[in-house]
Amino acid sequence: MHIKILGAAACAGHPGQTTCFLAGDDTLMDCGTGCCNLSERAMLAVRRVLLTHSHIDHCGFLPLLADVHASHGGPGLDVYALPETLDALRRHLFNNVMWPDYTRQPQERPWVRLIPVAVGDGVELDEGRAVALPAAHSVPGIGWLIHGAWRTLAFSGDSGLCLPFWRQLADTPSLTDVICEVTYSDERAGDAAAQGHLSPAQLLPRLAELPASVRLWISHTDPICREALWQQLQLGAPAGMLISPLKEGTLIEL
Ligand SMILES: [Zn+2]
Ligand SMILES: [Zn+2]
Repeated sequence: MHIKILGAAACAGHPGQTTCFLAGDDTLMDCGTGCCNLSERAMLAVRRVLLTHSHIDHCGFLPLLADVHASHGGPGLDVYALPETLDALRRHLFNNVMWPDYTRQPQERPWVRLIPVAVGDGVELDEGRAVALPAAHSVPGIGWLIHGAWRTLAFSGDSGLCLPFWRQLADTPSLTDVICEVTYSDERAGDAAAQGHLSPAQLLPRLAELPASVRLWISHTDPICREALWQQLQLGAPAGMLISPLKEGTLIEL
């Protein structure tokens, strides 16, 4: 299975689109504006969406993706998320004011089927398995672990320091790739703490607990903080660990 990065920015346009990854051909991880990088045909191939939380940079394209399925008679979407996230989608997006309520239309099989998950729950994928991971954000959130045939990728979603997340990663022997948000540089550690995001000083001690062979991908960086944040990460990272900014178009093989 491959993971294709369609968007990994904290802020649309700096650079590119907001969080959305394609796992295989039929599964999206989050549905930010990065989803608009897919062709209509590729959008119709998507069967399920694994959401991390309700913020619009992670789910804002979902109503438009559902509309592509509704307009072309596609298979519709199974959307997996915490109950609180699904409740937010029902109340604030698919409410017949912001957008048609595709969670009830058509009645016999709606275009959007909301499926609640809890931390630890698994979702079978065509070529692997996803498991919900704990996260600590300003709204209820989760991360996702994606087990491929040979390799395993962890995605933090939006999260401040969440020790259970890092403990679970340390207990995953097949782990090869971690996509971790680091939104702010250490100068803005206060904003990071207030908003449930990471800064380098919080992340760096956690990296020592991972095998040095794990490849770390940094996503969701604030456009103003990017240079300082990057210097702080590179100065403090464990020797030998490969750390890269997550860029649109990147393909990660699992
Ligand atoms: Zn968020
Ligand atoms: Zn975000």
